[in-house]
Amino acid sequence: MRLCRFADRLGLVTGDTVTDVTAALAALPAQHYPFPRGDLLIENLPALAAPIAAAARDGRRHALKDLTLVSPVANAGKVVAAPVNYRNHLDEARSDPGIHHQREVAEIQRVGLFLKAASSIAGPGDGITIRHPDRRTDHEIELAVVIGAAADRVTRADAMRHVAGYCIGLDITVRGPEERSLRKSVDSYTTLGPWLVTADEIADPGALDLMLAVNGETRQQANTRDLIIGIPELIAFASSFYTLLPGDVLLTGTPEGVGPIVPGDLIEATISGIGTMQVKVRAAAPR
Ligand code: MN
Repeated sequence: MRLCRFADRLGLVTGDTVTDVTAALAALPAQHYPFPRGDLLIENLPALAAPIAAAARDGRRHALKDLTLVSPVANAGKVVAAPVNYRNHLDEARSDPGIHHQREVAEIQRVGLFLKAASSIAGPGDGITIRHPDRRTDHEIELAVVIGAAADRVTRADAMRHVAGYCIGLDITVRGPEERSLRKSVDSYTTLGPWLVTADEIADPGALDLMLAVNGETRQQANTRDLIIGIPELIAFASSFYTLLPGDVLLTGTPEGVGPIVPGDLIEATISGIGTMQVKVRAAAPR
């Protein structure tokens, strides 16, 4: 299944068509305050397959191009991110003072993972709103793994059973000396989209092509087979520190070719097996 969200609606994507399957959400369990952590839809995805199929039979159909897509994950609790997880990007980060800012760029095995604020998540239709136009702000395309079932100290062998699906992630980054979590947690600096592809549709997430272009110029091109630490290892490692909950997002790291974006730019990001999304970059309105 390919599930997208637009306005407050849930859509099933087939080719260039989106069928409104919002009616299937009635099958979700009722919740009351204090709401449990995690994303209710992602957590209940297996049970929702039949209601979604039923809703799709007479759901309203839209042309994909007519919709403004928001993040396919509505209520992520945390965004876990791998700092430098492609060999060529490690070399690039070490050689560019605009990226490393006089800090040592260490291998992921030593630095571990970091967290981005969940409030930084936006969808492709929301675009990226640049808050610090005087600072270098870079694009990073990454395979985003969406957790479907709670993972607490899981083994590498058991890790993939906890994955709900995948989407394209953009880890937008203000370069500078401050902590990563600050520079990468600006509102709209985690783009997720264009939709969630459920795990059953991706035979091998460790063999996906990634491509990112800005204004038609290719900047990043790689394959997830070149990840230094693979997806099962990332999940096992993250879950050794904190429980991963349904709707949590794991950004797996970016390959070489990161570069600046400015208001007016148009990003096109593609991952094979998932799709393509276009994301506009704009300036924040003054306050
Ligand atoms: Mn990144």
